[in-house]
Amino acid sequence: MTLRVVAIDGAAGSGKSTLARLLARELRLPYVNTGAMYRALTLAALRMTVDLEDGHALARLMGTLEFTLSSASGGELLIDGAPPSDDLETADVEASVSTVAKHPPVRSAMRTAQRALGGGGAVMEGRDIGTMVFPDAPLKLFLVAAPDERAGRRVDERGATDVADALHARDRLDARVNPHVPADDAVVIDTSDLSVERTLRAALDAVASRAPGLLSDGPPADEERSRP
Ligand code: C5P
Repeated sequence: MTLRVVAIDGAAGSGKSTLARLLARELRLPYVNTGAMYRALTLAALRMTVDLEDGHALARLMGTLEFTLSSASGGELLIDGAPPSDDLETADVEASVSTVAKHPPVRSAMRTAQRALGGGGAVMEGRDIGTMVFPDAPLKLFLVAAPDERAGRRVDERGATDVADALHARDRLDARVNPHVPADDAVVIDTSDLSVERTLRAALDAVASRAPGLLSDGPPADEERSRP
């Protein structure tokens, strides 16, 4: 059976969450944000005071978290039965998530869970989806944006200027363990000067040319979305 997965990778603030959510709706596929999975593990580790340098303890803790898909409107990631909460966006989680994500046992457990979630079809976003989780995905998108633009988007989203510093610090840590490179066959989209609508259009063009089998007939699942 053909794998119905779109892999979307990119740095924080590159616009990948917005695009992934919209594209999932267009394609009627579950939307899986793998950053939320790393953040959920980080939050659990902070709450349980698990040593953030102990990769095996963190991988064991990962086994206590339940990652599933909701059955509503295409499906969305649930963590212990609930959608990702605002708790995953706190400065504490933000400051520690790259440390948690650097451990090979953690990454291995995450990839196993992500393959199980996406195997039935998904738009999955993260850092290593096209290269490591689903290297055989029929479409891989890799989003880039100028650093100032990425920081500006985060400030707009979260309303505090120190998030820009946190974002750059996280970039540096992430780059050390998980080199941020597109898969050889990825379509690279620079979102620096693109509106959300134009980014979605570029992604749908890529679907049409590279993986037309993913296009579903009829309007997107969310009936409130109006077509131009
Ligand atoms: O996507 P988001 O910025 O929410 O990801 C949070 C963190 O999770 C990243 O900074 C990175 O450390 C980690 N991550 C990862 N691999 C992924 C997704 C996220 O290492 N596939």
